[in-house]
Amino acid sequence: MPVSQLVALRNLKRGVTVLTPDRSDPRNFLEFQATGDSGGGDVQYVSEELAASPTVVKAIMHGILALEQDTMSPEVAEAFRQQLRVAQEQRDRSEKDVAAMIDRPDTRDLLGLDCIGPSERAGQRCGSLTAVVEKKAEEQPPLCDRHQGLAHEYVPTEDFDGDKKRTRWVRTVMGARERQAQ
Ligand SMILES: [Zn+2]
Repeated sequence: MPVSQLVALRNLKRGVTVLTPDRSDPRNFLEFQATGDSGGGDVQYVSEELAASPTVVKAIMHGILALEQDTMSPEVAEAFRQQLRVAQEQRDRSEKDVAAMIDRPDTRDLLGLDCIGPSERAGQRCGSLTAVVEKKAEEQPPLCDRHQGLAHEYVPTEDFDGDKKRTRWVRTVMGARERQAQ
């Protein structure tokens, strides 16, 4: 690499910004005065390598620092773009991780619904409390353990509660007792 050129970094924040590009060497830090500093302390000239370091690239990505692009040599401009891509990919990935976490099956809500299976008493419903995964409430009729075996006899129909869609289950096969009760 040719002799390192210096590039200008400008602090965009209203307060002092301090960066430690190498965490293992905290004595080596960059300090920028608040943006618009009358003494010009909001601009620091750093080596191109330092400008392309992950810490500085992150600060640029988060709008803390701005790089005066025209002072960069082509090699450093490329290294810088590479770092910027890596930083953006990391950010995208962490956003995806968060989305995956929200969608995890074990965070789905359970609904407590009354069992719609037939009761011992004609024309009545069992009514035992049964847990149904909220997302499955439209595919799976609420039936307690005792009535689970009747699931295939129920078909979902759509009902509207105001403008909110509800699933209502209708039993297509009726036992002799229910038929008598009709
Ligand atoms: Zn039941």
